[in-house]
Amino acid sequence: MEGAKDFDALVLGAGIAGIQAALDLAEQGFKVALVEAGPSIGGKMIQLSKVFPTLDCASCITTPKMAQVAHHPDISIYTLCQLKEVKGDDDSFRVRITQQPRYVDVEKCIGCMKCELACPVMVPAEEQGGFAARKAIYIPFSNAIPQVPRLEVENCIACGRCSKVCPAESIDYFQKPTDFNLNVKAIVLCTGYSLNKEYPRKAWGDFGEQPNLIDAFQMERMLAPTSPYQRLLRPSDGKEPENVAFIQCAGSRDVQLGVPHCSRVCCMYNIKQAILITRELPQTQCTIYCMDKRCFGKGYEQFYLTAKELGIEFINAKAVVTGRGDDDSVIIRHENMESMTGVQIKSHDLVVLSLAIVPAWQPDGTMRVQVSSDGFIASSKPQLAPTLTNSKGIFMAGAVAGPKDIVDTVVEAGAAASEAAIYLRRLKSSSSKAA
Ligand SMILES: Cc1cc2nc3c(=O)[nH]c(=O)nc-3n(C[C@H](O)[C@H](O)[C@H](O)COP(=O)(O)OP(=O)(O)OC[C@H]3O[C@@H](n4cnc5c(N)ncnc54)[C@H](O)[C@@H]3O)c2cc1C
Repeated sequence: MEGAKDFDALVLGAGIAGIQAALDLAEQGFKVALVEAGPSIGGKMIQLSKVFPTLDCASCITTPKMAQVAHHPDISIYTLCQLKEVKGDDDSFRVRITQQPRYVDVEKCIGCMKCELACPVMVPAEEQGGFAARKAIYIPFSNAIPQVPRLEVENCIACGRCSKVCPAESIDYFQKPTDFNLNVKAIVLCTGYSLNKEYPRKAWGDFGEQPNLIDAFQMERMLAPTSPYQRLLRPSDGKEPENVAFIQCAGSRDVQLGVPHCSRVCCMYNIKQAILITRELPQTQCTIYCMDKRCFGKGYEQFYLTAKELGIEFINAKAVVTGRGDDDSVIIRHENMESMTGVQIKSHDLVVLSLAIVPAWQPDGTMRVQVSSDGFIASSKPQLAPTLTNSKGIFMAGAVAGPKDIVDTVVEAGAAASEAAIYLRRLKSSSSKAA
């Protein structure tokens, strides 16, 4: 193992929170290691279609930030990396990181993608919600950083074609996971969220898994400018859906089978998706089943009113999936909480679930930060300094602390960077006084 590299700060997770925190620290002259578990930086935001309430293209506003991070002289990016161990003394941390093999030499690769073209193996592309195929050696999406493919060893058939066509001789089938150490003085946790995908099966048995029952992230991919079908289609038969339903709180605010907390952004992203569908397919009826609407941010209430004006239907109900129609439509049952019209059964061509937002990562024994009862990292000063953890020198930003929208995430990333910068400056001045 090489000797440890020194940085002022480690930012763990390179979604929009990590990217912003790293930039804000580096702009103040601190050296930052940005450590990401996936093959590219960008997090969930780069995968979204448009963003509420402005409907700006998500990738158009994320890509310049990703490029800024990649070109910043004081930021070093480490992808395919996970924290293995954190050892802290009074004013520094020694962090051991494990990097998974890419099987492509990042230094040699010229990003020509000849390997990807030559690869004969097709597998579902999770980056496209599983609706498109990709190769076993692949760059996850067109604006990925780094622009270096990753060979997924589980799907590789060892045919050797990628290696034969590579003009830079960068394919290395013998790479192994490697450990390396970083010495850092502060850590900013930005590991974000994931969706609770177990809920539908748990709540609705076999009906929880059917081709036209998709999650909201899959709908994001269908509506994205780089969508797999280039238009909205039903996965089962490729037909345009005549009616689309959105089931909110599919696992959130459900103490029995899901999680008790509100996932906070679902009301808004469902309205966004329904508006985008109505614009693309004006004949398609969109219905949103929601227990209530939480339009908490600036311009959000107006966004909701616009949706109503566009003819999007809102039904105050907790809807449940109860069957699968002969034409692969999704059968749902609901009880309208407002009109008290009793139980109703409906059939929809396509149904989108707002699954609960849960933490993507939880600290293990090596990092002593407190976790709240909802599983997200707890703040030691939730009112006045929400980005502080209970551990000295460890800060947090974004969805690692709880579900939140991009605006709040970016603001929090700036706050975390600012708290970390104050902390780093204090450390520096106290060590120079001691000397
Ligand atoms: C369907 C959907 C649509 C949405 N639409 C909108 C919208 O229109 N507008 C809006 O404001 N918000 C929207 N949101 C919310 C938005 O996605 C979040 O606000 C934002 O992505 C949070 O960013 P983040 O950086 O905190 O987390 P993430 O985007 O989750 O990034 C976390 C990063 O950390 C990495 N990571 C995880 N664990 C580790 C680990 N152990 N080690 C290293 N790296 C790790 C992950 O790979 C990821 O790259 C939407 C959410 C959903 C589910």
